[in-house]
Amino acid sequence: MSNRTFTMIKPDAVRAGNIGNILQMINGAGFRIVAMKYLHISKQQAEKFYEVHAARPFYGELTEFMSSGPIVAAILEKDNAVADFRKLIGATNPAQAEEGTIRKKYAASIGENAVHGSDSDENAAIEGNFFFNGLERF
Ligand code: ATP
Ligand code: MG
Repeated sequence: MSNRTFTMIKPDAVRAGNIGNILQMINGAGFRIVAMKYLHISKQQAEKFYEVHAARPFYGELTEFMSSGPIVAAILEKDNAVADFRKLIGATNPAQAEEGTIRKKYAASIGENAVHGSDSDENAAIEGNFFFNGLERF
C-alpha cells in the first residue's frame, strides 16, 4: 500500500477564500505536504486529467469548472493516505458528506465540491505525475 495521495483545492474553494482553511484541515489530519503548486489549468488540460470520466454526462461541466480559475494541486503523505484522505473530504455530494468533512464545510454542490482526492494508489501516482516532476517533491 502506498502512503501518498493527490489532491486539488478546486476553483470554487479558491474563489471563496478557503485555501488556508482547507490546508489547515489537511495538516491537522496528519498529512504532510510532499509537493504543492497554485496554477490555472486550461480546458484541454482538465479534459486530459479527467479522461476517465469522458463518457459521463457531466464531463463538459466538470472540465469547464476545473479550468474556470486557479487551483491548488498537492501530493500528500500519511499512512493509508488514499483512504484516510477520502474520509477527510467526505462524499462527492456535500449534501451526503459527514459532519466535519471538508466538503460538508466548504462545498456547495456535487459539481462544485471544493476538493479532489485520488480514489486509488494507482491513480494517486498517475495524478501526482500529471502535475509534478521529481525535482518538485520534498
Ligand atoms: P474527485 O475525483 O473530484 O475527488 P469523487 O471521486 O468524489 O471526486 P468522481 O465520481 O470521481 O467523484 O467525480 C469527479 C468529479 O466530477 C466530482 O468531484 C464532481 O466535481 C464531478 N461530478 C461527479 N458527479 C457529478 C454529477 N452527477 N454532476 C455534476 N458533477 C459531478
Ligand atoms: Mg474521483
